[in-house]
Amino acid sequence: MNHTDQANNIIQVQDGKLTVPNTTIIPFIAGDGIGPEIWAATQMVVDTAVQTAYGGTRLIQWLQVYAGEESFQLTGEWLPAATLKAFETYKVGIKGPLTTPIGGGIRSLNVALRKDLDLYVCLRPVRYFEGIPAPVCHPEKVDITIFRENTEDLYTGIEFAAGSEDAKKFMEMFTQEFPKMAEKFRFTEELGIGLKPVSKAGTERLVRAAMNYTIQNKKHTLTLVHKGNIMKFTEGAFLAWGYDLVEREFGDLVFTDRQWATIRDASGETAANQAQKTAQAAGKIYVNDVITDAAFQKTLIKPETFDVIATTNLNGDYMSDALAAQIGGIGISPGANINYDTGIAIFEATHGTAPIHAGKNKANPSSLILSAELMLRYMGWNEAADILIAALAGSIKVGEVTYDLARGVEHATQLGTREFGLAICSRMKK
Ligand code: NAD
Repeated sequence: MNHTDQANNIIQVQDGKLTVPNTTIIPFIAGDGIGPEIWAATQMVVDTAVQTAYGGTRLIQWLQVYAGEESFQLTGEWLPAATLKAFETYKVGIKGPLTTPIGGGIRSLNVALRKDLDLYVCLRPVRYFEGIPAPVCHPEKVDITIFRENTEDLYTGIEFAAGSEDAKKFMEMFTQEFPKMAEKFRFTEELGIGLKPVSKAGTERLVRAAMNYTIQNKKHTLTLVHKGNIMKFTEGAFLAWGYDLVEREFGDLVFTDRQWATIRDASGETAANQAQKTAQAAGKIYVNDVITDAAFQKTLIKPETFDVIATTNLNGDYMSDALAAQIGGIGISPGANINYDTGIAIFEATHGTAPIHAGKNKANPSSLILSAELMLRYMGWNEAADILIAALAGSIKVGEVTYDLARGVEHATQLGTREFGLAICSRMKK
């Protein structure tokens, strides 16, 4: 590839809109543990889907970049600057799971990538595939996309260890400046402290992204999940700013629970669920809110009432994995970390490196394959994404699956990682 080709093959972003060349360079991190095996299967599946959809008129040129254990062995660095630069330059990338370095004050690599590239949305669509053993009676009712805020909340990393000089200093400063508030501490010795920042700007960009996704994907409901009844100035503010944003920026397209409450109070109406019906009758997107603990119950009991969820970081972390378990496990749930303003997006397997399965041609590549499917849609290559998903769903439906999905399923044919990839490819048709 010469320099001109290279420049022509880079995704361009203007005002958050992607222009994707027909030949596109995509950086990838194969990952640690099972990473290289599931990556090899994923690359084969994606290339075949693109070839099947476009017959050679579109092509991905894969560019390997490094992070994690493999990178440390090769370069002495867990997350080389060149890798961050590649994601910045090429905008869209994909990664397998990475070993989290233990000790030595090294940050989680996933957290570092999200922070350094300001990837403020953690996107986790959760849907069921027929044939997957699931722990609930009606997993097929789950088709929910979670927008988890990725840069704030208790995960910001502003923490003071119990008994440390910093914790002591913090307590002295806090007690002096806010004596009344300081009385709320139940114990003051050996006290670990963490801060929970939630900002208006951080909330708005997350909710705006979720709302745009809801519109573009023709979904009917956006639910703000929060714990604002207890944490009023963080989770409660998230809720208020979320409603403000959708009413202000998407006014004609939405009907919110907050607007409904005003109408209801004025008219004396008491009927439940009337807000959703009112929104539907007006052909508008229904924006409501549910308190986190209730949301966990409701996504289990009535998952069909949710389409898109926008929520804070910690809520979103718990909720993504709980919903993934509901439809048969994180082995098949895709994910992405996205900044919708710069366009930079990294698609990723949501499970870890599963070291006990590494090198055995055994692991399930579905999470990474489905992340690649999300990536193709993000690039606007929907035809390839459709072909890929139909082929994957077909393999799962007939029970041609890896060991984890074959367990407990009668008549399943257990395949290795590579053979599962091949089975998917063999099902692809235009
Ligand atoms: P894990 O997800 O790697 O493994 C938990 C168990 O889930 C495994 O023993 C295996 O039985 C099963 N499993 C996971 N992925 C599978 C797949 N594709 N196919 C079949 N079975 C699969 O979680 P862990 O053991 O807690 O973490 C191992 C390492 O991965 C740690 O270093 C951790 O920090 C890292 N990790 C990385 C990421 C990431 O990069 N996104 C996420 C989680 C954990």
